[in-house]
Amino acid sequence: MKSDLTICIRQLHDKGHSPGTSTNYSFKDNSNQIWVTRSGIDKINIREEDFILLDENGNVADAYKETKPSAETDIHTVLYNLFPDAKVVLHSHSVFPIALTSLMKGNHLSFSGYEMQKGLNGIVTHDGIVEIPILDNSQDMSFFKHELTYRKMELNQGIFMIRKHGFYAWGKDLFEAKRHLESFDYLCQCEWLILNK
Ligand SMILES: [Zn+2]
Repeated sequence: MKSDLTICIRQLHDKGHSPGTSTNYSFKDNSNQIWVTRSGIDKINIREEDFILLDENGNVADAYKETKPSAETDIHTVLYNLFPDAKVVLHSHSVFPIALTSLMKGNHLSFSGYEMQKGLNGIVTHDGIVEIPILDNSQDMSFFKHELTYRKMELNQGIFMIRKHGFYAWGKDLFEAKRHLESFDYLCQCEWLILNK
């Protein structure tokens, strides 16, 4: 998993998902231990050694105490707690979702009629409305813990958005998490181009 995720992160970087050392990524190993990327890496150069092991309380394991984890590590641990089947959490700072949510006052994004809605968790047809929750941005990780727990029922598609920041995608494996990420990014790009035609 670590090897596959490292390759995936470099590919996501190439597609504009992690500019300027931003974003963070994690996975659960076969022992259900969580590994998260360390802070401040240019993702074009990310290596397997750049993952830090967390203990059962979500803190950095003793062997990695000298290494600074991503500032948003708590968002990853909250998602794994809320969704025990999740094995991978990806984070993106891609431009189109950010541009789109900068225009929106509401607390969710709606998509309807797109074939690619089927790339999101649990969606089997284009014929319906998909709503993805938007949270306001904050540097206070306890805010996200509270909001995500409170809004868990809105998180069924494996995606949530942070306004003018980026989005998180998760899944039961890397394949699924990446499908959620790419599908949501595609839908946001379509909406942005239609709104600005
Ligand atoms: Zn971020």
